[in-house]
Amino acid sequence: MKKLLIVVDMQNDFIDGSLGTAQAQGVVENVKAKIEQYANRGDRIIFTRDTHDESYLKTQEGKNLPVEHCIAGTEGWQISSKLNAENALVFDKKSFGSPELAAYIKGGPDIDEIELIGLCTDICVISNALILKAFLPEMKITVDGKCCAGVTPESHQNALEAMKMCQVNII
Ligand SMILES: [Zn+2]
Repeated sequence: MKKLLIVVDMQNDFIDGSLGTAQAQGVVENVKAKIEQYANRGDRIIFTRDTHDESYLKTQEGKNLPVEHCIAGTEGWQISSKLNAENALVFDKKSFGSPELAAYIKGGPDIDEIELIGLCTDICVISNALILKAFLPEMKITVDGKCCAGVTPESHQNALEAMKMCQVNII
């Protein structure tokens, strides 16, 4: 069984930076432990990074959420140093979900099962889970709720429920 872990947007701005939350800070240790499990088994791990530039406030996302975050090259854009992502495969993405990542998995490595964790449950985790469902309908896709946090605890729970209805395995 070849498993792939996708660690979504565990970046400083979403943890304790401009869009940080106590809930996000509260899952860092769980995320770290999950990454170590995969690494110890020799399973694949891919990180994603929300990536904007100085024109962020003029984008659709910026108009809806006028808080600058994850500007390429800034400290806030970096993946938390607690997660040892320095030598990992990283996909930068300009939107919530990454069609490039889904296309890479579809065309590339031999994978039987994908697990997603990270931030935010209700925006980028759900977006990527559903894009993967669309690209890879026969893939088993799991989301570990203990390794995710949402914008609010309620929207986190709502997103887990929505993914469950779309046949994402929620643990
Ligand atoms: Zn963003």
